[in-house]
Amino acid sequence: MKKIAILGSTGSIGTQALDIIAHNPQEYQVAVVSGFSNMTLLSKQINQFNPEAAVVSDEATALRFKKEYPKTEFLIGSLGLVQAATYADCNLVLNALVGMIGLEPTYAAAKIGKDIALANKETLVSGGSLIMKTISENGGKLIPVDSEHSAISQCLAGNDNKAIKRLILTASGGPFRGKKIEGLKNVSVDQALKHPKWKMGKKISIDSATLMNKGLEVIEAHWLFDMPPEQIEVLVHPESIIHSMVEFIDHSILAQLGAADMRGPINYAFSHPIRRENDLVGLDFTKISALNFEKPDLETFRCLQYAYDTLKLGGSYMIVLNAANEELVGFFLNNKIPFLDIQQKIQIILETHNPVYELTMETILSIDQETREKVRQLCY
Ligand code: NDP
Ligand code: MG
Repeated sequence: MKKIAILGSTGSIGTQALDIIAHNPQEYQVAVVSGFSNMTLLSKQINQFNPEAAVVSDEATALRFKKEYPKTEFLIGSLGLVQAATYADCNLVLNALVGMIGLEPTYAAAKIGKDIALANKETLVSGGSLIMKTISENGGKLIPVDSEHSAISQCLAGNDNKAIKRLILTASGGPFRGKKIEGLKNVSVDQALKHPKWKMGKKISIDSATLMNKGLEVIEAHWLFDMPPEQIEVLVHPESIIHSMVEFIDHSILAQLGAADMRGPINYAFSHPIRRENDLVGLDFTKISALNFEKPDLETFRCLQYAYDTLKLGGSYMIVLNAANEELVGFFLNNKIPFLDIQQKIQIILETHNPVYELTMETILSIDQETREKVRQLCY
């Protein structure tokens, strides 16, 4: 029986993870759930899954919930997330939080050698070197949930890293595939949120529209699979059927295919290292007329290029990329800046950054905060 702590259980990944667990009650048990703003859903989840603990954002909510669910332990705020990630009575942590708030819980779980199923890619973009070092020193497993990285880990199974020629990350191209700068000037928040293939949380939907999501995934792949940027390629594949591929030194290519349904990679992360049956819909090849591929347009979608640049530069550049992006996506979602300002302002912030190469948790968090402050000054 795997006992799972789900950080971000009220989000897109979190709810799909609970769906997998609900269909496999003999294999999985929910140890902890966590929500931030959606307390109605969190309450339903406590009712349905009867977890030992739940994380809420503040003390007043914890007191209110405690009256309703006296047997549940309530943990509070960012400290509560760290307590959840290190919860004694659980053997797997799913980090499905969005953004930098996920970093400290991942680090805390890594320090005590807990197995981590990681959806929260911002964690690896900002703290990749620290997290990977901590994981290797303490013996836990880091299992990717992001569909591309899950695909790559499935293709790699049993193969030596030295046998890899390149990783090929597929990208849907997002809602604005084919548009040039002129056509992106006046796009609205609603247009940017309409992803052609995946239904996801707001932040990652905007990241998919700017192609920053693919940039963050290139960095994520670098840390997870210990690959240099030159060996990580992005290929636009609008059908989103091939979730990613690995080419080996003998030019043989392995690909992982499936429906565009995140419950597939979540199911694999939970059952790892074995495979477990599920009731998802499989692919019908007779209904697929074509698989298309094209190069990403790095001139128009600059964020992907910036991700490669920061990965090559190393040190604190990736923290700055991630923090500036999170802050600017927030401004765009609140209609405070136009869509193209996201990439334009990231460029300005990166150009004025003085890099640091010794990265501890304290320096990562302080560079993250400084960057957000700079972005706020640029936007007001
Ligand atoms: P959502 O926005 O749907 O969910 C985010 C979760 O985090 C919610 O439970 C939310 O709580 C909680 N949360 C948000 N802010 C805070 C905070 N400050 N403190 C505590 N909890 C907080 O995001 P997604 O599920 O879409 O994405 C989660 C992660 O997975 C991201 O890193 C994303 O890039 C990655 N990912 C997502 C995919 C997808 O298909 N959605 C695919 C691949 C990767 P509440 O809702 O209650 O406010
Ligand atoms: Mg992905």
